[in-house]
Amino acid sequence: MKTNALPPPDKALDWSHLLKDMWMHGMSVHNIEPHLAESHIDSARDSMIEVFTRRNEARTVRPSAFLACARQTYFSVKGEDSGKMPDNIGPTFAVGHLLHELSYAAVKSALPGGFSAHTEVPVHLPQWWPKQDKFNQKGHVDMLIIAEDRAACAPYLNEDQPKSMLIDFKTMGGFSYKKHGKTVWGEDPDAFGYLAQVAVYADALGQINDGAIIAGINRDSLVQPLAPRFIAPEALKDELARVKIALDMALEQNDPGEEFLVRHGKDAHFQCGRGGRPGYCPFKKVCKENPTRDGD
Ligand code: SF4
Repeated sequence: MKTNALPPPDKALDWSHLLKDMWMHGMSVHNIEPHLAESHIDSARDSMIEVFTRRNEARTVRPSAFLACARQTYFSVKGEDSGKMPDNIGPTFAVGHLLHELSYAAVKSALPGGFSAHTEVPVHLPQWWPKQDKFNQKGHVDMLIIAEDRAACAPYLNEDQPKSMLIDFKTMGGFSYKKHGKTVWGEDPDAFGYLAQVAVYADALGQINDGAIIAGINRDSLVQPLAPRFIAPEALKDELARVKIALDMALEQNDPGEEFLVRHGKDAHFQCGRGGRPGYCPFKKVCKENPTRDGD
C-alpha cells in the first residue's frame, strides 16, 4: 500500500496540472520513495558516465535531432558536417540525465492508485520513417501514464481527459524555461525540434489523437515547479505533415532552402545565427554559405 501518493485535489484536473502536482509532491524528500530514488539514480549513472566517455557521437537523423528545420534534415542526410558540441557541454547533459531519472522517481512515488506510469518506453518508429542508414531506427519516450481504472482515477483526472498521456521531459536553463511557459506550439519557433520529436513519437505510439505534454524542468532553479505544456493533437498532426515533407525532400536530395528562416523570419535568428545572434543550428555555417535567397 503506497503512503506517499498525491492526495486527491479539490477537483479533478487535466493531465498537465495533474502531472505538475505529482512531480512537485513526489520531489519532496518526505514523499519520494527511497527505493525509486535509488533505482532511478542508478539508471542515470551509466548515461551520465557515457556523456564523458563516448567520443564518437552517431550523426543520424532521429526524432530528437535534425528535424526542427527541413534544411537541417537535408544537410544531415547529405552528410554535411554538423559541427561540434561545445567541449564543456558534458555537465549540462549529465545533469539532464539525472533530472530525468529523478522526475521518473518523483512521479512514480506520487502516482495515485488506478494509474500506471511507464518510463523510457521503447518506440518502433512508424512505417513511413525512412529505413536508410542515415536514419536512426530506434527511439524511446520518457513517460507514458495510463489511467487504467477510470473510476479510481476520477478524483484526480477529469473525465474529459484522454485515457493516456505521452510525456517528454526537457531540462532547460532559466531563460528557456520562461520562454517554454509562453510558447505557442505550432506557431512560435521550435529551435530544438521538441514538437517534431513528440509528433513522431505520438504517431508511432498511436497517441497522436490524445495530444502530448512537453514538460520543462528549470535546471537553474530546481525549486521552480515543473512546467508541463499540453500540445493539442492538431499541432502534432500539422508538425508531422511538415516533418514528412522535410524527410521526402532530404531523400530526394532536394534542397528546401532556409526553411526555418522562411517560416519564422527574424524570430529564427536565435536558432539560425543571423542578425548578430550566436545561433544553435548545427548547420548554421553551411546554411549561410549556401544562400538560396537574398536578405538573410
Ligand atoms: S541555419 Fe536556420 S534555415 Fe539554415 S539549416 Fe539551420 S535552422 Fe535551417
